[in-house]
Amino acid sequence: MIFNFNIPLAHGFVIDDMGWRESKSLKPEGPPRLHSTHNANINDYFNLVAMAKACGTRVFCAFILGEFDKENVCAKPCYNMPEAPSNMTEFGLNWKNTVNDDQIQTMDFLKENSQSIDFALHGVRHGHYATGEWEESEWAKRCNKEERLAGEKITPWDEKNLTNKLTALCYKEILRQYFTEEELPFPESFVPPNHAYFYRENAHNTTGAVLSEFGVKYANFKNTGSGSEDHTTDKIINFDHKLTFIDRRGVKHCSYKKTGAKPFIPPRNFPWIEAHFNNIWGSETYWAKYLKRINLFPNKMLGKNTEHVFSQWIYKNFAKVKNGLNSVTIDCTQIPEKAYENEILSYVVLKIFVGNMEIESVSGNCDIFAYYKDKFGFAYLTVGRWENLMGRLDREIYKITYKVGRKKMPCYVDNSMSTFYPYGLEIGENEVKLKGKFYGRETVKIKVPFKVASVTCSKVKILGFKQEKDFLYIDLKALCMLGDTDTIVIGG
Ligand SMILES: [Zn+2]
Repeated sequence: MIFNFNIPLAHGFVIDDMGWRESKSLKPEGPPRLHSTHNANINDYFNLVAMAKACGTRVFCAFILGEFDKENVCAKPCYNMPEAPSNMTEFGLNWKNTVNDDQIQTMDFLKENSQSIDFALHGVRHGHYATGEWEESEWAKRCNKEERLAGEKITPWDEKNLTNKLTALCYKEILRQYFTEEELPFPESFVPPNHAYFYRENAHNTTGAVLSEFGVKYANFKNTGSGSEDHTTDKIINFDHKLTFIDRRGVKHCSYKKTGAKPFIPPRNFPWIEAHFNNIWGSETYWAKYLKRINLFPNKMLGKNTEHVFSQWIYKNFAKVKNGLNSVTIDCTQIPEKAYENEILSYVVLKIFVGNMEIESVSGNCDIFAYYKDKFGFAYLTVGRWENLMGRLDREIYKITYKVGRKKMPCYVDNSMSTFYPYGLEIGENEVKLKGKFYGRETVKIKVPFKVASVTCSKVKILGFKQEKDFLYIDLKALCMLGDTDTIVIGG
């Protein structure tokens, strides 16, 4: 029987326009809303997390934070005209917001559930408020017809990027009303409202230039905007300062106004599957089923997390896999240097159909961090280098030899339902070390070939562990919503 490994495309699920409370605009010229029959409440967030847990993925959730502004920082003179180049909201200095108990509980809930939610930046108020007329895109200007004819597509709001700096600062101030610097310094992930992002190769004032100063690393949006004339770049992946963005082209969009929408087939070559918050309301079970069924495609998988989706996309598109008899070669020599510089590369997941068999043993010039098999008979092998940053592979050629049989490997992490990043697994006679980045509350499932006496680590809190049959289950809690990198030491 011939087995063929491939690097599957990892799909991530991105939800835009999280964070709105009101379903309708407060002013006719105000920003778009949820367009739903009810205002958002904590139950919508409960259902979302339950959906994410049911399919073992961490959802990229892009948040608008204006209506979470407890202290009305959006009304500060420094964020509004005449001091600032534009107003932060449609109400300018007269902004007045009242936060309810439900919203405070929602933020507490999100803080505890970063294993399921990647708290991403969308914006403060979604729009640009400089003229009294509402303009849709918060971070860059989508040009009008005349400007397009003159060759402009998307331009920055101002030459020095001051508007964007103020917006990011205001967003950060609202975040601090709920999260300490240790809990959430600033989101690492970003979606620009109305998909308006200013990018030009080597330009100093791109959207990414400002946001990477705040720590944003990952962005996704439709680079094509609403029409092909809006292309800012033809590349699917772009490195903009320390921010990397992936095009969301190819998404069959369900109307953002549709509550309880049913999803479409995942896009062929693009990793992000898009929805708006109200799209999943009442149809969470349907979405969970749809997301899990992505694994049915031999060359696709449901991504675990944002970093994984980006990293996997790079390996899929730049590394070459060659199958031999019980062996596979991964040639990483063509991976762009920028992927290393921007620190977005981690391990790679290989996929193989084994039916009712198992991968019994693996060896080679790289390390196996994790392994599991899904109910469709596909096996997933997480491959990296223990000693490298985020467990990534170098620009080298790796060769793995393996055996498919009836037995399971003696020691491995089973990350089938978890969203943490395994960055390395070191197996000793009486000790196993698992390096990784961990989120919220998770249970690490790991096959250990000895009786476990102790589980320790430095940053992450171990809540307890139990060994049942072949597996050890470690309950843990991480503090930072961007994940805590740590090494768990399991002693016999
Ligand atoms: Zn939006």
